[in-house]
Amino acid sequence: MLLLKNIHKTYHAGSPLHVLKGINLEIEKGEFVSIMGASGSGKSTLLNIMGILDDYDEGEYYLDGRLIRGLNETQAAAARNRMIGFIFQSFNLINYKNAMENVALPLYYQGVPRRKRNAVALELLDKLGIREWGTHMPNEMSGGQKQRVAIARALINRPQIILADEPTGALDSKTSQEVMDLLRQVNDEGMTIVCVTHERDIAQRTDKIIYLRDGIIESITDTGR
Ligand code: ATP
Ligand code: MG
Repeated sequence: MLLLKNIHKTYHAGSPLHVLKGINLEIEKGEFVSIMGASGSGKSTLLNIMGILDDYDEGEYYLDGRLIRGLNETQAAAARNRMIGFIFQSFNLINYKNAMENVALPLYYQGVPRRKRNAVALELLDKLGIREWGTHMPNEMSGGQKQRVAIARALINRPQIILADEPTGALDSKTSQEVMDLLRQVNDEGMTIVCVTHERDIAQRTDKIIYLRDGIIESITDTGR
């Protein structure tokens, strides 16, 4: 599903910073993997490359068999919309839209009529156990509820992969476990999921832990799940 060969990335803000120094990684369809590593080790950089949010300098990245390189912004956006759902630590909901509208947003951009997109959004909110929150605004919701809305939004395009950057980073441990339960449920239905986390007990709930250090993969551990 995802194949990275010798991926390098250097940032040029001031003195050059060589963040990824030859990442080789294959993630298969249906896998649920986590990425760990110290702050600044390049976890988000790697996830952003996987999500076609950022370019790499060297190597090859294949997504579903297709080489992802040198895409212009229109092509990158099209590939993202078709293939990838994102979840972030800070939820990234739009504050002046209610939960249902937030979930439906990707369909809005695709020109799907309101009635249809709201119906699909409600179905997803229902699946995630928060249908009754559909007409509430983000500032009326708890962190866990907001992350459920964000997960619903990530699922609405029926993506091939979910990329989550510290999805539980802003949540208490009980709510974190509930969000992991939901991601596991989505994974059980066949979704490939890559989850960056700082927390070992969160990583332990995925199938495989990829540990980044000094710009390379130091280890890949099977959790035995
Ligand atoms: P954290 O756990 O704190 O989120 P991370 O492992 O996700 O860290 P990255 O965000 O990938 O780390 O950053 C890796 C390094 O690259 C850091 O030193 C960071 O300052 C630097 N960096 C990240 N994005 C940029 C950018 N757009 N321009 C310049 N440097 C950047
Ligand atoms: Mg990060």
